[in-house]
Amino acid sequence: MDLTFDRQHIWHPYTSTLTPLTCYPVTHAEGVHLYLEQGDQLVDGMSSWWSAIHGYNHPLLNQAAHQQIDKMSHVMFGGITHQPAIDVCKKLLSLAPSNLQQVFLADSGSVAVEVSLKMALQYWHAKGESRSKFLTLRHGYHGDTFAAMSVTDPDNSMHSLYKGFLPEHIFADSPQGNFWQEWDESDIEDFRHKLTQHHQQIAAVILEPIVQGAGGMRIYHPEFLRQVRQLCDEFNLLLILDEIATGFGRTGKLFACEHADVQPDILCVGKALTGGYMTLSATLTTQKVADTVCGGEAGCFMHGPTFMGNPLACSVASASLDIIATEQWQTQVKQIETFFAEELVQFESYSEVKQVRYLGAIGVIETHNPVQMENIQALFVEMGVWIRPFGRLIYIMPPYISQPEHLNKLLTAIKSALNTPECFNQ
Ligand SMILES: *Cc1c(COP(=O)(O)O)cnc(C)c1O
Repeated sequence: MDLTFDRQHIWHPYTSTLTPLTCYPVTHAEGVHLYLEQGDQLVDGMSSWWSAIHGYNHPLLNQAAHQQIDKMSHVMFGGITHQPAIDVCKKLLSLAPSNLQQVFLADSGSVAVEVSLKMALQYWHAKGESRSKFLTLRHGYHGDTFAAMSVTDPDNSMHSLYKGFLPEHIFADSPQGNFWQEWDESDIEDFRHKLTQHHQQIAAVILEPIVQGAGGMRIYHPEFLRQVRQLCDEFNLLLILDEIATGFGRTGKLFACEHADVQPDILCVGKALTGGYMTLSATLTTQKVADTVCGGEAGCFMHGPTFMGNPLACSVASASLDIIATEQWQTQVKQIETFFAEELVQFESYSEVKQVRYLGAIGVIETHNPVQMENIQALFVEMGVWIRPFGRLIYIMPPYISQPEHLNKLLTAIKSALNTPECFNQ
């Protein structure tokens, strides 16, 4: 591959044109493995950012894509409908929290979040109340488009760069207590305070249930979420749950909100929706929210992407949800969680390690020093694994089909990195 061209002309996520880092050329992927041009076989620890939950090149997903592409890959969704959209929405509603009745299909996670915020704003507009603030948590992540970024952690997403353009919302402290520790009542105090103080301006609360992903890989206590739901009910506020990372079994429950036994008013899903094949997301809501929105001045929900309900993506998503419906993921994710509980926690004895956290098929090592990206990436590739850390976080969320031998390989590589001072900026 022409890596020089790539380096000189192609932007990768969060990269500099002045100091582009090495990119590794992947030619194909199969099961839990990525294959490099040089012939290396890497065990994937990232599921391509939470998405490839069933592994790569899956026969059932391939079949769904092939069959659909021979019929039509795309057709507009305005005034037209098709079987793949009906199938995927039916299956989504059968899996999602039972109060959700309406599905809006969108093209990426960030757009699903934008849609959820617009729904909340239109909801209050229709009720004749002007409410334009959102309450969220520090260390959250909801995407890179503007509205999504405005409710993402202000420091991590560098709100200062966009000051004057970015709307300002309300941030409560994120819970400190770990999922596995005792609940500490003071963890909800700041949230309760901010909500009580500002509730008349707040259109909705938006947060990631149980696991805060890209904003810090924090895994918090279900009691926090339970109390958030109670407070939203008490003050009559909408609760938007962003399950774009956590949805479809990743945390050991089909949706992370099930850990707290709560239901959202609006739910965002994406990432693993197509098993990592294509970009597709969805925003689900209740009949009440949908009907209120549509009873307002606009008379409809004001959004409609060109590639809305893309049949190819819908048919693959539909096949992925069939695999989910077999419930194999439950034993697979449990097996990975048990492995983390036994093996990953031992990493706490390393001097470089500050804390180890895990839940379901998510394993996180927080280090004292930030990683030296170029070096640690090269070491991981040399050790035959694909792990992409950031800052002080080395984390893995492998495909559900990963076997102990694959998980062992991932942990051996992390061990080796922790023993290599060049992998960290001191
Ligand atoms: C990845 C992610 C998003 C954004 O999804 P994109 O598909 O990258 O736009 C939003 N929320 C959460 C929790 C995510 O993990």
